[in-house]
Amino acid sequence: MNKCCYSCGIPINMSEFKGPSNNYCKHCTDKDGVLRPRNDIKKGIALWLQGWQEGLTQEDSLIRAEHYMHAMPAWA
Ligand SMILES: [Zn+2]
Repeated sequence: MNKCCYSCGIPINMSEFKGPSNNYCKHCTDKDGVLRPRNDIKKGIALWLQGWQEGLTQEDSLIRAEHYMHAMPAWA
């Protein structure tokens, strides 16, 4: 079964994303497995969106990141 990060939705059963927490990926937590601040996560998701959507402005990507996060258990 696919287990996904409660914060960003990345599959955390893939070892490259697995961090110290069982509920969050390594990008969404610090080295102790504590969830990072909401704004940090939002910026990370915005960058990720810009990575696969060419021409997306930073402003648009932040708006989309906000929408995306509404679907995540950690931020809903
Ligand atoms: Zn995550």
